[in-house]
Amino acid sequence: MRVGIPRALLYYYYYPMWKVFFEELGAEAVISSQSTKGILAQGLKHAVDEVCLPVKLSFGHVLDLAGKVDYIFLPRIVSVEHRKYICPKFLGLPDMIRRLEGLPPLLDVEVDMYRKNWDLYQAIKETGSFFTNSRLKIWMAYHRSVQALHRYCRLLQLGLMPAEALAVLENKVKNEPLPYPADLNVAVIGHPYNIYDPYISMDLIRRLRAMGANVFTAEHIPEKILKSNASRLPKKLFWTLGQRMIGAAFHYLERPDVSGVVHVAAFACGPDSMTGELIERHARARRVPYLNLTLDEHTGEAGVVTRLEAFLDMVRWKKAGAVGI
Ligand code: SF4
Repeated sequence: MRVGIPRALLYYYYYPMWKVFFEELGAEAVISSQSTKGILAQGLKHAVDEVCLPVKLSFGHVLDLAGKVDYIFLPRIVSVEHRKYICPKFLGLPDMIRRLEGLPPLLDVEVDMYRKNWDLYQAIKETGSFFTNSRLKIWMAYHRSVQALHRYCRLLQLGLMPAEALAVLENKVKNEPLPYPADLNVAVIGHPYNIYDPYISMDLIRRLRAMGANVFTAEHIPEKILKSNASRLPKKLFWTLGQRMIGAAFHYLERPDVSGVVHVAAFACGPDSMTGELIERHARARRVPYLNLTLDEHTGEAGVVTRLEAFLDMVRWKKAGAVGI
């Protein structure tokens, strides 16, 4: 059996776990192609206008899997940790996708860990029961998938980006330092599906590295540090991803070796408008150079490159003591 996994949204967090889980149950995990203009065009054609860019893109990735797989794994994600929610657009995604024609059946189990983390196992059992009646086999598959996720998170915390960590896990490359000569460090803060997708981010991370900057993201920081930094807000954010972004931004803005922060937001994203505002205020208070990039389907590559170059010039001048901001 072939199970399709769209290369979108929480793919960047959980793909190694999902892959191992399905493989342990005897299925083949098939991911959609890399994002392209064509995949985005399909998403734009079929998604409602009101949703944000990454959700539109996820429609294109689902359609890319049509005809290639027996099922598409599209969990209805409500919450991935105790007392926190994921954006409501994740919750509605399976219903929005189901009205598209020509798709294989969806595996759309509900993942809701708001009340207790252990509720995840309900979703695991339900998904596993599509492939086997053996509870033991499902439990073992789950156990191995969690181990795979931990290995992946450890690689991210060593400073790798998701694609690099996956290449290491799949034995395609060795875990070696990257060959970029960098003279400064910048933090890139944004939802994982916006910053790690090379097509919609306009290859932001590779470009920054090629311009001489080491790039740090939220995934490079241990969970405990993210949470303790995010808890400094007078009122806690109730979105898991927003909390990670705030925790990472507060952490990097206080690190003397990090010279600037880039916040990447998606057009029409409510949570991003709020987290962006909080990060910008904190950056101003600490006099750290800050750049906001808002992405939508019309974002032009030339404009992004010019803004990145200008931002890095400012960061270098500031670092050299030439300007105050
Ligand atoms: S958090 Fe923002 S970018 Fe992410 S799915 Fe929700 S609206 Fe879209």
